[in-house]
Amino acid sequence: MAKKLIVGNWKMYNNTQKASLLLHSLSEKVETHRDIEVVLCPNTLALQSLSLQVNRRQFKLGAQNCYWRDEGAFTGEVSATMLRGIADYVIVGHSERRHVFREAERDIRQKVQAVIRNGMQAILCVGETARERSDGETAEVVRDQLVSGLANITSEEVASVSIAYEPVWAIGTGSVPTPADIRAVEKVLRKEISVLYGKKAAEEIRILYGGSVNAENTTELLSVKGVDGLLVGGASLKADEFAAIIEQAFAVTKKDANK
Ligand code: PEP
Repeated sequence: MAKKLIVGNWKMYNNTQKASLLLHSLSEKVETHRDIEVVLCPNTLALQSLSLQVNRRQFKLGAQNCYWRDEGAFTGEVSATMLRGIADYVIVGHSERRHVFREAERDIRQKVQAVIRNGMQAILCVGETARERSDGETAEVVRDQLVSGLANITSEEVASVSIAYEPVWAIGTGSVPTPADIRAVEKVLRKEISVLYGKKAAEEIRILYGGSVNAENTTELLSVKGVDGLLVGGASLKADEFAAIIEQAFAVTKKDANK
């Protein structure tokens, strides 16, 4: 069984000093469990200094974004090549990138490819808006985003990808889809992976849920069949709550192992 993946997306919060204090606090509060991989994604500036502070047996580090060209005249961007050796994971196509910064599918697929080319793991985010949901387009939207995001990825490379299902309407709102809704999307995603890369890849790929995850709903969300982890935004900025999320993830893993 693959390790459960719990990812904390710190978004554009915490300067370098505050990020260091949060890591210090997390390192005291978060227990290390063999079956759980915990990834912290601070802003790019803090990533460098945290990479010198972090105990990589306790936490992995992730970037929230990258540019897909290795280097060049791209003012303001940081490439996957530059993140290599600092980050283990890179979040690609987060809904805030897609909707606030109008990131195009073409860029997202190039970024997934750049992350893998540079030896890191990509977390590809997919998810429908509230309107797409009410129009009954959820399955179609996530399938299209998945197929497009993986367009440049080979069957060997897909092992370096995890998919995060993050409904746009659930991010930072306190609204969460039902377990049945999440399960339905998980099935759509695995079915499409199976078409593209075969049954084994579909079984092995890690599918995460993200959107208003907190210490109260972690157990229910992680108990959804086929959900292999969580992408946590706001709640990952509070050391006690994030530690509680990890403990609940551990309890779910233990329960699964005893089944
Ligand atoms: C996120 O940033 O990916 C996210 C899911 O945020 P939140 O948990 O705050 O909804």
